[in-house]
Amino acid sequence: MSIAEVSKSCEITILKHVHFECLGCAPCCRLNNIPVTEKDIQLLLDNGIELDQSLESLSPVLIPSSNVEKGFIKAYILRKKPFVKECVFLEENLKCKIHSYKPIACQLYPFAVRKSDEGFTAIIHPDTVCAHIDIDVLEKDSNTIEIVKDLISLLLFE
Ligand code: SF4
Ligand code: SF4
Repeated sequence: MSIAEVSKSCEITILKHVHFECLGCAPCCRLNNIPVTEKDIQLLLDNGIELDQSLESLSPVLIPSSNVEKGFIKAYILRKKPFVKECVFLEENLKCKIHSYKPIACQLYPFAVRKSDEGFTAIIHPDTVCAHIDIDVLEKDSNTIEIVKDLISLLLFE
């Protein structure tokens, strides 16, 4: 369900109020393949994280994507721990070791940005991993929309 739209003139229109509060329970860090952009990779490198510590493969792979309609994207993905298959940066206390420079997909989650011919739309991520998002629960403003707007701007226009 769409919550916001970015028009071709880069304005963002709010369509829905969504309340989301992350509980830090971390199934999203265990069950998802996290796509990593080149900007994310640069940030990891800038913070001293080598690519062989952070990526599953030094070559991009095809993964299902919420960013394109009914499609796949070619992307680098974040490395997983062997056997348990959770993100290599997930700590035992369920905190993210690279929280301040984690990939944009992690910053956006449980939202995502979908690209179509009409422009960009912020959506609720189509996976079912996060059970803690309520749509239309809050009638009044939450700061969720502002956060999503900021993240979309960051992702698309910086
Ligand atoms: S599953 Fe949802 S509530 Fe839990 S850590 Fe991930 S985003 Fe936060
Ligand atoms: S980088 Fe951090 S937020 Fe992203 S999947 Fe790994 S532990 Fe979770």
